[in-house]
Amino acid sequence: MCLIALAGNPNVGKSTLFNALTGLDQHTGNWCGKTVELAQGRYQYKGREYRTVDLPGAYSLVSRSPEEKVAEEFLREGGADCTVVVCDATCLERSLILALQVLALQPRTIVCVNLMDEARRAGVTVDVRALERLLGAPVAATSADSGEGLETLMEKVRGVCDGFQPSARNTEPWETSDEAARRFVLRAQEIAGQCVVSEKPSAPTKTERLDAVFLHRVWGYAVLLLLLLGVFWLTIEGANYPSMGLQWCFDRLGELLHRGAEAIALPAAVSGALLDGVYATAARVVAVMLPPMAIFFPLFTLLEDFGYLPRAAFLLDERFRRAGACGKQSLTLCMGLGCNAAGVTGCRIIDSPRERLIAVLTNAFVPCNGRFPALIFLLCLSFSVGSSLLDAALLTLCLLLSVAMTLAASKLLGKTALKGEPSSFVMELPPYRRPRVGQVLVRSLRDRTVFVLGRAVAVAAPAGLVIWLLANVSVGETTLLGWLAAFLDAPAQLIGLNGAILLAFLLGSPANELVLPILTIILTAGTTLGGDMSAQMAGLLTANGWTWQLSVCTIVFFLFHWPCTTTLLTIHKETHSAKWTALAALLPTAFGVALCALLSLLFRLIS
Ligand code: GDP
Repeated sequence: MCLIALAGNPNVGKSTLFNALTGLDQHTGNWCGKTVELAQGRYQYKGREYRTVDLPGAYSLVSRSPEEKVAEEFLREGGADCTVVVCDATCLERSLILALQVLALQPRTIVCVNLMDEARRAGVTVDVRALERLLGAPVAATSADSGEGLETLMEKVRGVCDGFQPSARNTEPWETSDEAARRFVLRAQEIAGQCVVSEKPSAPTKTERLDAVFLHRVWGYAVLLLLLLGVFWLTIEGANYPSMGLQWCFDRLGELLHRGAEAIALPAAVSGALLDGVYATAARVVAVMLPPMAIFFPLFTLLEDFGYLPRAAFLLDERFRRAGACGKQSLTLCMGLGCNAAGVTGCRIIDSPRERLIAVLTNAFVPCNGRFPALIFLLCLSFSVGSSLLDAALLTLCLLLSVAMTLAASKLLGKTALKGEPSSFVMELPPYRRPRVGQVLVRSLRDRTVFVLGRAVAVAAPAGLVIWLLANVSVGETTLLGWLAAFLDAPAQLIGLNGAILLAFLLGSPANELVLPILTIILTAGTTLGGDMSAQMAGLLTANGWTWQLSVCTIVFFLFHWPCTTTLLTIHKETHSAKWTALAALLPTAFGVALCALLSLLFRLIS
């Protein structure tokens, strides 16, 4: 078996090539530096097995980003039988810098010039023979997306693994100094100059035309807002009926399970704990979360695949710099919209430790997907005039508020605990690409929806048990839940909430999606709701003296409070520090408490 290493700049189609070769559906993102872990896969060619390792994207083996270090160490160890350096045919010169460095480290290297179809469309021709001669290494031209040239590449890989030695080439070891890096840059310029012919297209390209709008100082923001509005509107409009349908199915199944429990004479306490506690809570989480996630994640992934997310980051870059943070933080913020734990891990793309920490500590300021259903429900409950477009607009407002608070918190950190100058970086804007709808669906449903849902159910089930116990164990006339809620009532009133809501937030710490279901359990003293949950929940809240002021404070507290347990564990893993993890929990909570206290004061003054 041969070991093949795939190296290349970010965004040159390395993951796509990896998938095309190995058939494994690995995640392929459309922004720089996303692949941090090493993915592996296998393929067979002419009766032989090839193990393939996808190295992290790197611009050079000289600079010092964590991904580049991983790639460099792997290549220096020389474990691969053949290294394939994937290059971008549309900007070969830049890709060649890395190719030349890898060639100098690893004589058994093949240069794969990918994105040939895009180069053709842009009027760029690459003379593959001349490139082969100048590099002294085998070159294969491919379009990984359509599979063009894959056969040739596999044949060349076979040749190298079989001991084919390329012609004269300088394989002296080189130093990782800036001086050595400059040599590579000049040589890349020289080679590209000799084998790339570029006809300047007379009309602006599709990417240029779209960027004129998407990156426009005014229209760019308008498009960003409209896109957010559209995504939220589709999520709100589309999620209601499937949610109701799912809950109906779970209720029927619950009835069957209850009957089964009676048939086998299960003690009431056991069936109560298992069915009304564990099953009902887990079922509710699935019913509430699955439909909006199954709509939101694919839409979000479509925008990512199309190449829009880096543009959004580009637009927000300036704002983040002014807040003393790094522009790349806007990318991790976008990832946080899906899941804060994923957003925190994504902060690895930020090289400066100071700015990475700012991004990690403020990621939970944007609402993750676990909070969206609750926000939507509360907005509809108190402010809806029956228009889902208005609900989407209100949700967009909430998001703008969280972005503003992220900037404020970043600025505060940059001026206090994490002082320093923002570093500059080059943000790469890949060309727009037609999203691969099939892959997007598989990727967003399997990798994101099922993953997040699985995690939510895993924490919801035991939490359900604890809550059932608290709701069913009484001291005197009152359940433990009742006691706890009463105990928390006074501090909660100070920030415009009440004891039941604050208790729901505390018990919902394992996952934000649990907060509202827990609140209904507290308010019904342990009885679980079934059927049209939204309507029943609305009735229940109204009967318990719910007001629009209470809604506003709950929404604000939903946006700004401690991150869920999974996110906190992830923060601890990334920072290796209890101090920073504690600050990550305290910071959004302090913002939430301050905002809610101010709002409640204001409400008292105007009432
Ligand atoms: P990586 O960062 O190098 O792993 O790049 P990806 O594999 O994630 O590819 C980035 C984008 O380029 C994705 O949208 C791919 O669909 C697209 N892509 C990859 N290879 C080709 C190709 O040969 N032609 C075209 N047109 N698009 C490609």
